[in-house]
Amino acid sequence: MTVPITNITASIITNSRGNQTIRVTVQAEAYEGTFEVPEGASTGSKEVAVLAPEKALTVIETIVAPALKGVAVTNQAQVDKVLHELDGTIRFETIGGNVALGVSVGALKAASAVLGIGVWQQIRTLFSCAPQRVAPHLFVNLINGGKHAAYGSPIQEHQIVPQTDDVVVAYNAACAIQTSLKQILIQAYGSEHVGYGDEGGFIIPSKTIFAPFEHLRKAIVDASVGIPVALSCDVAASSFFENGLYTLYEAKKDTTELLSFYETLHQEFPELVAVEDPFFEKDMSAFSAYTKAYPQILVVGDDLTTTNKAQLQEAIEANAIGGIIIKPNQIGTVSDTLETMALAYEHDIKCIVSHRSGETKDDFIADLAYATGAYGLKAGAPHAQEREAKYQRLIYIQKTR
Ligand code: PGA
Ligand code: ZN
Repeated sequence: MTVPITNITASIITNSRGNQTIRVTVQAEAYEGTFEVPEGASTGSKEVAVLAPEKALTVIETIVAPALKGVAVTNQAQVDKVLHELDGTIRFETIGGNVALGVSVGALKAASAVLGIGVWQQIRTLFSCAPQRVAPHLFVNLINGGKHAAYGSPIQEHQIVPQTDDVVVAYNAACAIQTSLKQILIQAYGSEHVGYGDEGGFIIPSKTIFAPFEHLRKAIVDASVGIPVALSCDVAASSFFENGLYTLYEAKKDTTELLSFYETLHQEFPELVAVEDPFFEKDMSAFSAYTKAYPQILVVGDDLTTTNKAQLQEAIEANAIGGIIIKPNQIGTVSDTLETMALAYEHDIKCIVSHRSGETKDDFIADLAYATGAYGLKAGAPHAQEREAKYQRLIYIQKTR
């Protein structure tokens, strides 16, 4: 069924961090799809550009809506091609990556309405790679640090990863561990010192890199959820790297010293199975050395790769990673996101679809993770409603598929 795009509208809303962002609605005759664009804080330097919300509204009204009028809304490739043609730069510097993504996902959702199918089913028609998992592993960030926290560890995210194929079982385990962790942290630091960070996890005045992992280990034992639960972290090392040195509390470490620090970390915490952005995003060779030294650890690129096919290709050639974070707003369109994922799948690189630290209530990433059979979904702590929305959507898909 060919239904043309008839209009595109947008408005300004506030995200979970209190910053303004845009909500874009793509209309195709009687059908429509809406997307609310998220925002990163520890962004990779090669991510697509973000246009100020006021300016984004003008661009949508005067440039993007007129150009897309009449294009078949179900033709995702054509919608995304027009967005690229209108822009003319690699990083969406003209129309804005936030505008591009709002329109691209808005069109995808409108198309699924036209066809009367779920968003995840529509994504599946666009993606033909064999799935990595039946349902994604949940990477649940329960202790926040780095740029997502007012105080605490320089490591940005301390996650638990319940080991099960069942999303409900994983989610229930995560919630139980979140509850037991709260008690542990209040006892250790006092309730007045335990807060919440940008991704809904706890922030704590921990004094060592190991402390958050020790708390998670104890919370897992206390919750006794009946399934194995692994640990994972996003170091986001670019955020504490300056002039060749990494600052971990008082200590400054060069690349070699940081690598040997990870040796100790892995000895202390064998249940730590995945580590994201362990080094500065421009130090590909450090990623390669880490991957070679710890073949059992899933080394994940985020700032290193920014969901960009060319950067992923470089990382593959350098044997730098075993996994990649997939954030649609790093690259700007649904088609580009799926192309990067396809390249990853071809090379056995595990994809972890991810939210941003400044989120909206939009649950599109749950559809994306499920539809593509992604290895993981990183969506923060269930405590925060904008994160919970993603888990609830995934549970709904699992129940109704
Ligand atoms: P960001 O952080 O959304 O602030 O960039 C998330 C991440 O680094 O994975
Ligand atoms: Zn990251």
